[in-house]
Amino acid sequence: MSYCPDCGCKMYNGVCSNCHEDLIIFDECLEYGIEMSEEFLESVDECRERQKEYAQREDVKRAIGKQ
Ligand SMILES: [Zn+2]
Repeated sequence: MSYCPDCGCKMYNGVCSNCHEDLIIFDECLEYGIEMSEEFLESVDECRERQKEYAQREDVKRAIGKQ
């Protein structure tokens, strides 16, 4: 198990359950077939961009490596 260097929450494969919460909700919506609003999908896109940059960070890579 690895933890986010920013907030200390659980991180899965470079996705923090707190900082990138929208991505996790998005996956759940897909899994359960829940309809998502345009607004939410936009914030998911934005969150995905943030997560890409996040995953490139050295401190994040180190945290993932400890998994
Ligand atoms: Zn975080």
